[in-house]
Amino acid sequence: MYHVGVDLGGTKILTGLIDEDGRIEKYVRRDTNAYEGPNAVVARIVETVKEVTTGVARGHIGGIGIGSPGPLDSHTGVVLSPPNLPGWKNVPLKAIVEERTQLHTVLENDANAAAIGENYFGAGNNSTDLVYVTVSTGIGAGIIVNGSLMRGKTGSAGEIGHMIVDAHGRQCICGNRGCLEALSSGTSIAKIAREQFGEEHDAAEVADMAKNGDELAKRILDESFGYLGLGLVNIIHIFNPSVVVIGGGVSKVGKPMFDVLTQVVRNRAFPTSGEIVEIKPAELGGMSGMIGSAVLARLHRSENQQQRLHRQQV
Ligand SMILES: [Zn+2]
Repeated sequence: MYHVGVDLGGTKILTGLIDEDGRIEKYVRRDTNAYEGPNAVVARIVETVKEVTTGVARGHIGGIGIGSPGPLDSHTGVVLSPPNLPGWKNVPLKAIVEERTQLHTVLENDANAAAIGENYFGAGNNSTDLVYVTVSTGIGAGIIVNGSLMRGKTGSAGEIGHMIVDAHGRQCICGNRGCLEALSSGTSIAKIAREQFGEEHDAAEVADMAKNGDELAKRILDESFGYLGLGLVNIIHIFNPSVVVIGGGVSKVGKPMFDVLTQVVRNRAFPTSGEIVEIKPAELGGMSGMIGSAVLARLHRSENQQQRLHRQQV
């Protein structure tokens, strides 16, 4: 049985046909062109689903999972008004995709989908307690506690980008000061680099400069990752995970980043939780959201089957 995973992002749509072992049978990538508005983007999603399922018997496709930027309501399948998708307001994405594809569809926050992907087929190793943190233009997290995704009352659990790690820190786009996102995201690393160097450098360039011995670049990264480490300490104190998986573009910095994070966690976290936690890079690269979305479609289907069985037995 296959499931379709869709990773809907502000810049790209990644859609794949995934088998039960998490293998990608086929996938396509399209630009989101979000400026064209929801109708065009939804049509593009449906097109990509048709592309990856062409030639596969209907009976072999269990359903579709879509990982989308939040805020969204995963129960009703409605995308509310994500900053990354301009013009979207209360779009009933699940219902539209179901109607046009005639395939059962589930909708989930993108970071949650990536957490599930990494936990099933990536760095997570089927942990019951895992936190996935994505560090790219923004910062977000998917949190698995006792084997279940934590969604919160309004589906906003895991918005760790606006966790405050320095009460007097830099101004954040949200209006607060000292949020993780204002100190450790790719966007903020580039912003700090512009102030310090007086010229434009993105986070990848700053990392290259640091690798080549530039002291200022190294200091910028150490400070940014130091704050991210503090954020992880707070998360670890709340959830006591066995593994924290770090993904997103900035995680490509690799060892210099993970060395700082591990050091801050070992120095600052309570030993009971800080000593046991593994801090690991994501293993599915840019595919964790797509694969995780397909897993969510499968889990939803088997939950429904169990409920039906239960009702029959009762
Ligand atoms: Zn903020």
